[in-house]
Amino acid sequence: MNVNIVVLAGDGIGPEVTAEAVKVLNAVAGNFGHSFTFDAQLMGGCAIDATGSSLPDATVAACRAADAVLLGAVGGPKWDNPQAADRPERGLLAIRKELNLFANLRPVKLQPQLIDASTLKREVLEGVDLLVIRELTGGAYFGPRKEAGPDGDEAYDTMLYTREEIRRVVKLAAEAAVLRRGKLASVDKANVLASSRLWRRVATEVLAEYPALHVEHVLVDAMAMHLIRRPATFDVIVAENLFGDILTDEASMLAGSMGMLPSASLGDQLNAHHLPRGMYEPIHGSAPDIAGKSIANPLGTILSAAMLLRHSLGLETEAAAIETAVERVLDDGVRTGDIAQPGMETVGTVIMGDLVVAKLR
Ligand code: NAD
Repeated sequence: MNVNIVVLAGDGIGPEVTAEAVKVLNAVAGNFGHSFTFDAQLMGGCAIDATGSSLPDATVAACRAADAVLLGAVGGPKWDNPQAADRPERGLLAIRKELNLFANLRPVKLQPQLIDASTLKREVLEGVDLLVIRELTGGAYFGPRKEAGPDGDEAYDTMLYTREEIRRVVKLAAEAAVLRRGKLASVDKANVLASSRLWRRVATEVLAEYPALHVEHVLVDAMAMHLIRRPATFDVIVAENLFGDILTDEASMLAGSMGMLPSASLGDQLNAHHLPRGMYEPIHGSAPDIAGKSIANPLGTILSAAMLLRHSLGLETEAAAIETAVERVLDDGVRTGDIAQPGMETVGTVIMGDLVVAKLR
């Protein structure tokens, strides 16, 4: 299969972790007889420095022509001035809008080898296998807002949703639940928020078409509690943008480290293979505190590359091969610093990538 992948390495540890994922994808291409072309483009702080824009037109055009996009992370203290005309995060929000990526999928599966790396008790964590789906292009991050000026003391953000925005993401979550264990929890705050009451009404309508699913509607504050008390009882969880942002970070801690977890952002634009032109990235940020030290954990990005093969190219065998290779490296007791237990030997970013490639062979 001939595949065109845009790589947005971004800032901080972004270039370090994407380099390892590209290395692994090249090994997969060699093993399975595919031809993967990687097109490096600018987004985020590095794009502001080079072009003055966090999302140059050339990047948007390249992403629109690609089969899939692999992203590292953007941002860092250098671009943190709130008064700046452009910020790295703007580029990220804008590319999600440009590619109409309305659903962010974060699988949270605890690797048994890492159970002691979590701050939660073993008995709470056993059996955790979640898929959290966050709505990505609506809600308070995109609704009308007022920024308090230098002398202002009033500001607001508007959590705005349309029926269609809710319908498409809940439907995607329902389809995912059908393929998993048949359970879906829809999160809202319908006891207080008008947008949540619309969310619950539309979700109820959509989910009526899936009578075989076990459905529950859970208030977001209750879900924050359930996720650390009984996470293994959930299968697929779907939430609007802001609630999903918070809950996905909370859920990530079940897996021990931010560095381990992949994500996929999917929408309705199809690529040359008639599959969603998704964007794939680790859930962590640019980690400026460890950037340039070659100690970042590349496994979240490598597992994101596996999701890319699965969702944008339909290459299930190749995706599973990467996931198995990662598990086997962990079985060998090899760890980066963020997931190491006291006394364990740790390796850096590049060696971790090399070991995954070696297991693929
Ligand atoms: P972060 O995820 O970058 O880092 C949080 C902590 O986790 C840090 O201690 C970091 O060293 C550690 N960490 C993160 N990834 C790791 C990895 N792969 N291996 C080992 N340790 C890892 O979050 P932050 O510090 O809140 O944000 C830093 C910057 O990243 C900010 O500018 C923020 O806006 C940006 N950010 C970007 C994205 C994105 O591009 N999608 C997401 C979140 C934050």
